[in-house]
Amino acid sequence: MPGEPSAPTLTPAEILALYQWVDGSCFRCARRSVPTAVVGSIRPSDLPGPHPVRACGACTSLMEGEREHDALRTGRPYVPGPPAVALTA
Ligand SMILES: [Zn+2]
Repeated sequence: MPGEPSAPTLTPAEILALYQWVDGSCFRCARRSVPTAVVGSIRPSDLPGPHPVRACGACTSLMEGEREHDALRTGRPYVPGPPAVALTA
């Protein structure tokens, strides 16, 4: 948009390259045996400690788009790549 500060924009492929991919199941679309990346974590009551939430490339791209949209809407910085919570929670 004219007049707004522009941040360097990564291509979707560059953003996905920030993640580490391991074959698994996507929590979002339920595809199995596809390359997945950790996109967050949950703490199930019946398991000790945080449990990683994994998503496939298509869903990760969609969620990155939603995060960017949210950041623009709320004025917060958009930081592409795996959320810090996925590593520390
Ligand atoms: Zn998926």
